[in-house]
Amino acid sequence: MFDFNTTVLVVDDMTTMRKIVQKALKEIGFSNFVEAADGQKAWEVLNETSSVGLVISDWNMPNASGLDFLKRVRSDGRYKGLPFVLLTAESELEQVKEAVMAGVDNYIVKPFTPAMLEQKLEETHKKKAA
Ligand SMILES: [Mg+2]
Repeated sequence: MFDFNTTVLVVDDMTTMRKIVQKALKEIGFSNFVEAADGQKAWEVLNETSSVGLVISDWNMPNASGLDFLKRVRSDGRYKGLPFVLLTAESELEQVKEAVMAGVDNYIVKPFTPAMLEQKLEETHKKKAA
């Protein structure tokens, strides 16, 4: 599993969803969070916060989507290896392929339980360590 001191960047245009994700992360053991409401702001927060070690981002957001944000992250050498997990709705599953092509590490379908999130993060960490 990721070090629980890892700063997690939580991105979603819905405040409630950002809270749900952070609450689940707290239950898992994480305690350091930064957040953003769209892909554009997420890019700014990422660049302002040197310690971000994991991104959990919604897909469907105004200004810049999760996919836009992912592409921007992966095109920057500093963030090539940054673990990136997408939050998707069931209806967006078709688009996951596109995200995989763009370098996403994993995805979680909403709604999810803390246990499901924990399992996905465990999986993601193993992938990155391999
Ligand atoms: Mg959204």
